[in-house]
Amino acid sequence: MDDVALTPQRERTVTIVSLVLTLVVLGGYVTFSDGPIGTAVRGVLGVDGRERPAVEADGTGEYAFLNEQPGSDEPVGFSPCRPIEYVVNPDHAPEGWQDYVETAIEEVGDRTGLRFDYQGTTDDRDFADRVGPGSRARPALIGWADEDEVGDLADDVAGVGGPTMVTIGRLRAYVTGSVVLDSDTTDRLARSPGGEQMQVALLMHELGHLVGLDHVDDPDELMYPRGISRAGFGPGDREGLARLGAIDCR
Ligand SMILES: [Zn+2]
Repeated sequence: MDDVALTPQRERTVTIVSLVLTLVVLGGYVTFSDGPIGTAVRGVLGVDGRERPAVEADGTGEYAFLNEQPGSDEPVGFSPCRPIEYVVNPDHAPEGWQDYVETAIEEVGDRTGLRFDYQGTTDDRDFADRVGPGSRARPALIGWADEDEVGDLADDVAGVGGPTMVTIGRLRAYVTGSVVLDSDTTDRLARSPGGEQMQVALLMHELGHLVGLDHVDDPDELMYPRGISRAGFGPGDREGLARLGAIDCR
C-alpha cells in the first residue's frame, strides 16, 4: 500500500480539497501445493477458453503492474477464462451508486476483455480478507466505508482497492479482491456539481488496481495517485488494461 498526499486540481465549484488514491494488496498470498495441475486448480484459474476476446490497446503511455510472474514481465492478472464475480455492499453508498458501479465495471471490462459477473448486493463487509476457509475465494467486494471502519481511508485517502493473489507452484493469479471508497469523499462528491463523473472515475481507478494496475507518475493517466485529472482511462491505462486481459488461459 502507498499513501501519497495530494492537492488535486481544484475547481471553484468542487468542494473536494484533496484526494488520495491508494491501494492495498489484500490478503497476502495463498499458496497451493506444488503438483500436477488438476481439477482444483482448473477450478481456480479457469482453463476453458476466454470469456471475451482480448482487447487491442488503442494507445500507448505510462502504466505499471502490481505484480509480474516470476522471472518474466508478464503481468499477474485474473484469468480471462472465467468471469470475475463481484458483489456490492450499498451501505453508505451515494445515491445513484448502481449507475456509477455499472459504468465503471463496464469500462474496465471493455478495456481488459475480462468479463465481470454481478452477483448482487451483500451485507458482507470483509474488505480485507476475500479468501475464506479452505482457500475458497469469495466474490470481489465493492463498498463504501469511513476511516473508523477501514483505517486505510484515514486522512485524505479517497479509496483503496486491490486484488488477492494466489500462487500455485510458480504461477501467480488474482482470484478476488476488493474496492472500498471513502464515504466522506463520496458524500461530498454527491453534493458537488459534476461529482457524478468523479464518483465513476474514483471507482475506475480502484477497479484498475483490482485487476492489477499500479500507480504511475504521469498525471494524465487515471492511475496517477495524486488527484484525478481526467474522467476516463488515459492511453497508458488502456494499454496496461489490455495487457492484463490478454494473459494466457491456463
Ligand atoms: Zn490508487
